[in-house]
Amino acid sequence: LVKTSYEQIRKVDGDVKAFLTLNEEEALAQARELDKLEDKSQALFGMPAGIKDNIVTKGLRTTCASQFLDNFEDPLYDATVMDKLNEAKVVNIGKLNMDEFAMGSSNENSSYESTRNPWNTDYVPGGSSGGSAASVAAGEVLFSLGSDTGGSIRQPAAYCGVVGMKPTYGRVSRFGLVAFASSLDQIGPLTRNVEDNARVMEVIAGHDVKDSTSAAVEVPKFTEALTGDVKGMKIAVPKEYLAEGVAPEVKESIMNALKVYESLGATWEEVSLPHSKYALSAYYLIASSEASANLARFDGVRYGVRSENAENMIDMFKKSRSEGFGDEVKRRIMLGTFALSSGYYDAYYKKAQKVRTLIKQDFDEIFASYDVVVGPTAPTPAFRVGEKTEDPMTMYANDILTIPVNLAGVPGISIPCGFGENGLPVGLQIIGQHFDEERVYRAAHAFE
Ligand code: GLN
Repeated sequence: LVKTSYEQIRKVDGDVKAFLTLNEEEALAQARELDKLEDKSQALFGMPAGIKDNIVTKGLRTTCASQFLDNFEDPLYDATVMDKLNEAKVVNIGKLNMDEFAMGSSNENSSYESTRNPWNTDYVPGGSSGGSAASVAAGEVLFSLGSDTGGSIRQPAAYCGVVGMKPTYGRVSRFGLVAFASSLDQIGPLTRNVEDNARVMEVIAGHDVKDSTSAAVEVPKFTEALTGDVKGMKIAVPKEYLAEGVAPEVKESIMNALKVYESLGATWEEVSLPHSKYALSAYYLIASSEASANLARFDGVRYGVRSENAENMIDMFKKSRSEGFGDEVKRRIMLGTFALSSGYYDAYYKKAQKVRTLIKQDFDEIFASYDVVVGPTAPTPAFRVGEKTEDPMTMYANDILTIPVNLAGVPGISIPCGFGENGLPVGLQIIGQHFDEERVYRAAHAFE
């Protein structure tokens, strides 16, 4: 399996560009050791997996697709999810491309060559976990890990026609995930089908003493939820999720999916998430504020690249950051620093936090009477490379349907549900109550 994985990478990755770093020697050595083991009964035994490059891997280069970490060759520890995958005897094939520090929706913010959509390489794979989605869609690995702060697992999963789960905030340890916006970030699996996804989640989920925001909640056997039975399930469809800006073909795919659910004995009703119109503004304030604080650690001293042109220490901080970060990262740091500054804090950051509470309450109200919320993952199928790079606002607007889920902290999955006019996949998003991934998986599996 591991050899086949590298053969496929050699065949297609010149076009797809999903991988930044390969782990070939180590992976083949690990596979040979695994072959010798008597007991091969673990569910993910020997499975080749790709890892988003913002997840720290001991001894394996971890760049976050940033020039700042271009030389970060030898991290000293593994993220908790890597410890768990190692225990499950998963083989790490290599590190996957992304938007720099996970900021972006198309992979075009990678400081390396950007990943392309395997269905049609003139199109973006989505972002920021574009490499994670493309590698699975292109058959390079059997599954991958991504991270989702505002949609970065679900939107690329939708664009590449694979399954991507953003778990409940706190379900999966963030220890060893390079922080973008700590109150929103979650790691999750991208797979070809729902069953694989549930299996990977069973391995990576769980409380971790190394992450104080990880929840001490028992991890269910997610695979046991895959019964195919959704009889009597009550589905809420927010009218805001099928409003203006959502492409007609996307709406049509969602309506068809709802018919499938009806035929399986579920019912659906239109509901409202009235505060979702403020989600985008609140998200870009909160995420940028947290990013500006988290990225302060990149100073040219502790990690990564140090400017060689500096005259003194302050100059070294400035030049290392000016040379190391790309435009989008700088934009977020400036926006976040401004929003957190004295005099503006109450007007922007605090206000955004209040909006966040209202958005969470919208979901709470719906989950009091419905099992799951269903809608599109993104307003359109994948767009062309270069189509949205001119204006950051049009790129941000693409996240409108995924962001409320992160702000509320609830779980959401994207599964394929049709094709757009450009022949590229459309994603169906299924959202659940906090720590109710089981119902999300059950609904997703029944549709599949
Ligand atoms: N596209 C969003 C952003 O640029 C989401 C990114 C993410 O989920 N990591 O912030």
